[in-house]
Amino acid sequence: MKKVLVGAGKINFPEELADGLRDLAEVVYESPREEAYIEELRDADALIAGMETVDDAFLDKAPGLGIVARFGVGYDSVDVGACTKRGIHVTHTPGVLSGAVADLTWGLILSQMRGIVESDGHVREGWAGRTRRLPLGADTEGKTLGIVGMGRIGVEVAKRAQGFDVDVVYSDVYRREDLEESMGIKFVEFDELLKSADIVSIHVPLIPSTRHLIGAREFELMKEDAIIVNTSRGPVIDQAALVESLKEGKIGGAALDVFEEEPLPAGDELAGLGSTVLASHIGSATVETRRKMAEVCAVNVRAFLEGKTPPNLVPEQRK
Ligand code: NAD
Repeated sequence: MKKVLVGAGKINFPEELADGLRDLAEVVYESPREEAYIEELRDADALIAGMETVDDAFLDKAPGLGIVARFGVGYDSVDVGACTKRGIHVTHTPGVLSGAVADLTWGLILSQMRGIVESDGHVREGWAGRTRRLPLGADTEGKTLGIVGMGRIGVEVAKRAQGFDVDVVYSDVYRREDLEESMGIKFVEFDELLKSADIVSIHVPLIPSTRHLIGAREFELMKEDAIIVNTSRGPVIDQAALVESLKEGKIGGAALDVFEEEPLPAGDELAGLGSTVLASHIGSATVETRRKMAEVCAVNVRAFLEGKTPPNLVPEQRK
């Protein structure tokens, strides 16, 4: 009987979905943090992967693997070339999480602009004798939202922007003329976006060309009171340059769900800055969305176990 290893955990891939595969395979759960994971990997045919790095060294320990079903849409943790060379399918979960990530993006924008987290702390700490005054926030009305990467998530962020009185500009390596009129969004060059936006929101995948896409040069171009929002991947922003730019007041603030190193190391300078709102990589973390992601993983693994082509192969493996 074939074997499916779930590295993504029961909270993400619940037992009842595992039960749905058990007519075709044994399904085992193991945390990538445990030594037993490597043991289980040795004779696994399928892997439902969380954030574990799947590279050549990893694959050497998994000689029987036929599919890596990544629990998520981003697959920068998987070396697709190495998998392809070994005939291993790589799938992901596109689309089903876009709304949840867009909701969080707007949550971060509003939290940053209105000081919601700071105000929550203020109330819990006894309202500081009612006399302490928090800095005033900023309106969204009349502002420009710049979306970097108008893909599935970028589009959902733009959709939600329709409910706010903001102008939306975007940059992408592909122009989305199909959306420009219907959504009232405008394509601009990357540098123009950085210069004109009050809110810069990042929605690109982490690939070699987007690593440190935003660094010292880009912060220099941004408005002094602009904020940067990142719900894509940490390394898309040069975090050291971000800290410096915030300290020097080159930009107004940052709202981040992702970091160059996760978890963010204790005592990191970002956490000491008042102009930041920080979340712990919770973009897709809702009950409904995680369920949908798990179902997509199950469909892909089931197809593989039945000898069919999994429906959600990553673009590099689509014919
Ligand atoms: P997508 O592929 O639909 O969209 C990405 C867009 O970025 C595409 O339109 C692409 O053309 C564009 N792009 C690529 N390189 C670019 C560049 N250099 N400049 C401008 N645009 C560029 O992907 P998606 O489904 O929208 O997901 C985007 C990313 O969000 C994922 O790759 C993942 O890393 C991240 N994500 C994070 C969370 C979270 O929990 N915070 C959850 C889901 C996804």
